[in-house]
Amino acid sequence: MTTRRPMIAGNWKMHKTCPEAEDTARALVGQLTGKEEAEVMIAPPATALVPVSRIIGDTPVQLGAQNLFWENQGAYTGEVSAPMLVSAGCRYVIIGHSERRQYFGETDEGVNKKIKAAVAAGLVPVICIGESETERDGGKTFSVLDKQMEKGLEGLSEDQFSQAVMAYEPVWAIGTGRSATPEQAQEVHAHVRQFLEKRFGAQTAGAARILYGGSVKPANTAELMALPDIDGALVGGASLKPDTFAEIIHYKR
Ligand code: PEP
Repeated sequence: MTTRRPMIAGNWKMHKTCPEAEDTARALVGQLTGKEEAEVMIAPPATALVPVSRIIGDTPVQLGAQNLFWENQGAYTGEVSAPMLVSAGCRYVIIGHSERRQYFGETDEGVNKKIKAAVAAGLVPVICIGESETERDGGKTFSVLDKQMEKGLEGLSEDQFSQAVMAYEPVWAIGTGRSATPEQAQEVHAHVRQFLEKRFGAQTAGAARILYGGSVKPANTAELMALPDIDGALVGGASLKPDTFAEIIHYKR
């Protein structure tokens, strides 16, 4: 049986100036023992990646970006490439977050190009998928997720996918305080793993980490993490305060 190391990831979204990000990262590091069972990742805004990377240095906290552009360089004003993120100290990059799909017109085809660019540069993509409330109410959850995965992962070899992390983030649960129930989340995570098994084989699917995201807080982390196909959490609002995020990281205590 494959053992999957849990992962607790914090998406800071468009929050924190450089000094604020440095303070938060410093305080978070101070809360960790170094013996955490879960791998810890934080994704500050692009401006704070370099200063935060200096603070988390050799600590167990990994650095992630919230987005990238698929070309390595060129006349793409305002964009940041995968090699640039690597040079800033990133190991992870969040791709396809619903806020990017909703507000910045991100498509499954764009997500696919971004995943390939991330992998080519040696970054680990955290690939976000999720259905809206209308889609769930209309019984379309699985078909929506399947389409996001089919198109998002198109052309990816088993080897290219092997390190990737999936994140199921129901849009209706993000920032609303209304998390999916453990049953709803487990049902979808099992479905995602089945999809990955058909696409990449049992070994890769069994080793893939699937995070849940959507109003995760200290009070609901342990029950979500106890489920067989939930391998971690992608945390937005509750990752902004180091004490709260540390409580989530230490969900077993
Ligand atoms: C997110 O932005 O990825 C997220 C899950 O946000 P929140 O935890 O605030 O719902």
